[in-house]
Amino acid sequence: MMRLQRQSQALVEQSYYQATAHAAPSHAPLEGVARADVCIVGAGLAGLSAALELARRGMKVVVLEAMRVGWGASGRNGGQALAGYASEMKPFEQQLGQTAAHDAWEMSLEALRLMQTRITQYAIDCDWTAGALTVAVTSKKARALQHWVEHMQARYGAHHLEWLDAAATRELLDTRRYCAGVMDPLGGHLHPLNYTLGLARAAAAAGAILHEGSEVLAIESGKVGVVAHTQDPIRFPATTRASGLARVRTAHGEVHCDHILLAGNTQLGAVAPQLARRIMPVGTYIIATAPLGRERAQGLIRNRACVSDNQFVLDYYRLAADDRLLFGGRVSYSTVSPRDLAATMRQGMLRVFPQLADVGVTHAWGGFVDITMNRAPDFGRIAPDITYLQGFSGHGLALTGLAGQLAAEAIAGQAERFDLFTRLHHRPFPGGDLLRTPALVLGMLWYRLRELL
Ligand SMILES: Cc1cc2nc3c(=O)[nH]c(=O)nc-3n(C[C@H](O)[C@H](O)[C@H](O)COP(=O)(O)OP(=O)(O)OC[C@H]3O[C@@H](n4cnc5c(N)ncnc54)[C@H](O)[C@@H]3O)c2cc1C
Repeated sequence: MMRLQRQSQALVEQSYYQATAHAAPSHAPLEGVARADVCIVGAGLAGLSAALELARRGMKVVVLEAMRVGWGASGRNGGQALAGYASEMKPFEQQLGQTAAHDAWEMSLEALRLMQTRITQYAIDCDWTAGALTVAVTSKKARALQHWVEHMQARYGAHHLEWLDAAATRELLDTRRYCAGVMDPLGGHLHPLNYTLGLARAAAAAGAILHEGSEVLAIESGKVGVVAHTQDPIRFPATTRASGLARVRTAHGEVHCDHILLAGNTQLGAVAPQLARRIMPVGTYIIATAPLGRERAQGLIRNRACVSDNQFVLDYYRLAADDRLLFGGRVSYSTVSPRDLAATMRQGMLRVFPQLADVGVTHAWGGFVDITMNRAPDFGRIAPDITYLQGFSGHGLALTGLAGQLAAEAIAGQAERFDLFTRLHHRPFPGGDLLRTPALVLGMLWYRLRELL
């Protein structure tokens, strides 16, 4: 098991989502040699969305998952489905121009619609609740938020965004912490693990074959041969395969296929180190309170929207269907999980809602997000027959669905929409494999200090 997977395993076991997940079938590990049109690495939302779309197009799809369906970020996140990108629109505007930036914004709205269509079409029981509220803690941050709303309305026609002053924000939230907010009725929230399990069910029903407990150890392009793997010369024994096919290897099997899609998030390092250098795993954490009761819960967030602030290290929270508060925040740039996680997260929650001092915390968990240098998503190809999706930068719950669909379109020969994203430039994190994490820690500390000034 990879290092990040070991650290993550302890976190996922404490998850409220795990404790409230619907029953789901298990999928046997890959044994022997299988033939597929497309082999997908990773059964998170990105991989499963592509699997569903490709299988619907009649392709033979095999999905290989190292752990279990939804084990990664997709099954543990804040559950907030938001429009736009972690980077906001700047990298698109600066690198691709206004027309492409506009298309990218529209695609982020399409991602939200796609999610809701799938929930309905495949009857996925995942507690979808509409409404997303962004709030500002300081007047400096309120000015930045207002500037953003004006920009989005003027350039992107985002007139559905509703500006809220301090009084209007306090009418929605029972806290004095914020001086402004923006309501987005198109965003919303859901139980991410149940949504992911529902998408897996839909992909399997469409014909995709899923294998859990099947960590991919190496990949090989059918066009250009070995593109990346660890230094083990016996990764690919001499199995026979038709020429021109790509190969994907696990401990007990191989998939021979026309195309590989890598959707492994931060865990993919050894399989494709050239991709791992372009993202950094950053830990982020969530707690769940004991159930508050309908009246008390609704008193905190009156319209039940999900909420996040616009601080550099943000608080994000929402009410679960059973009236608990799920409160996320904190980050670990060093990939080391904070000590006393539940207690320190609770302090953060009490800064927002001091009236919850008498409420216990029942679950504390977390996971890793795949941030890029500029926080824009990183999609592309490392060989003509190997496509990848990564770099959602903590803003992937809705976007992964669309990304999977775009990758499926590209693999099926319609690459125009996918290639809007491949045109974005991404720089690797500086410092090489050994020094890049300490360099990131220092860099982020600087940003946090700047925010306090
Ligand atoms: C705590 C937390 C809170 C978040 N909150 C939000 C939020 O509120 N809103 C939002 O939009 N986004 C949020 N995110 C981000 C969002 O969850 C991710 O962007 C999204 O789930 C990424 O999906 P994915 O399919 O790319 O990756 P994952 O869901 O991580 O799936 C990747 C899968 O690939 C598997 N894998 C990796 N390597 C291999 C291999 N070699 N062989 C086989 N399988 C492999 C992994 O086991 C994993 O299951 C949050 C993330 C975290 C961790």
